[in-house]
Amino acid sequence: MSKMPNTPDVLISEVGPRDGLQSVKATMPTADKFRWIDALVAAGLREIEVCSFVPAKHLPQMADAAEVVRHALTHRGVTVMALVPNLRGAEAALKAGVHKLTIPVSASAAHSMANVRKTREEMMEEVRAIVRLRDQIAPGVKIEAGISTAFGCTIQGEVTDEDVVWTAAGCIEAGAEEAGLSDTTGMANPAQVRRLFNKVRAAIGDKTGAAHMHNTRGLGLANCLAAYDVGVRTFDASLGGLGGCPYAPGASGNVVTEDLVFMFEAMGVTTGVDIEKIIAARAPLMAGLPGEPIYGMTPEAGLPKGWKQTARTA
Ligand code: ZN
Repeated sequence: MSKMPNTPDVLISEVGPRDGLQSVKATMPTADKFRWIDALVAAGLREIEVCSFVPAKHLPQMADAAEVVRHALTHRGVTVMALVPNLRGAEAALKAGVHKLTIPVSASAAHSMANVRKTREEMMEEVRAIVRLRDQIAPGVKIEAGISTAFGCTIQGEVTDEDVVWTAAGCIEAGAEEAGLSDTTGMANPAQVRRLFNKVRAAIGDKTGAAHMHNTRGLGLANCLAAYDVGVRTFDASLGGLGGCPYAPGASGNVVTEDLVFMFEAMGVTTGVDIEKIIAARAPLMAGLPGEPIYGMTPEAGLPKGWKQTARTA
């Protein structure tokens, strides 16, 4: 794998402003979202999923999506991402000027119907339509399919490896630049993560995208490390572990950004994220969502005595 000098070894893609904020009841005021995103950027994060483009009647937390994108775009060198479930959302996101779109496509047939009321085949057609629109109005924008319920589904139970590979390959065939794997329901284990990323990579090669792991059963970091071991270099995480999935009952807690940064930096794997500044970014999150519980082992325990981050690039 070739990398530019001074480029961090891994890319932490912060999903808190989208995945986190859309799964809590309270709505963070727009000005607080700006302050929080500013703090995330100041800590060195280079990719942030800042919102989703969905009807405000379904997710009032995201009603200010276009405004949030506009603000995030004022930060140079940051890839501004948005989640879009359909063509209409994609059109709004592309018009707002995002750099990258994530489209959730379930590997589980049952979850697909529950989450977006479309079959998996219909979602692949949606990906194809979004790619076509992108080509017309914003050809530089990257499109990633996030293969959700890749490691199991709370509705149908087991999701076969074949279904995951088929869904990922179908999205690439439909024109997406990348397909990543999401443990939407927090059911993944490290052996499964290694096996599935290897199988998906065998099918779609370097179009294999991010690992989006949840900490529902305490295996979030172990699963990220397993993905790293088989060549994954982009990891979704959420500050304070905020977020989950409303259609996966009992599943909550994205991998905590602060803990993920600590793990990699402690191993000598550079993230480009300053550990002290990323911990400090919890303050504007808490200010914007008073009373909301947030998580993180490293922020609670503090950094080990004498611990130094090897490469501070922030
Ligand atoms: Zn998540």
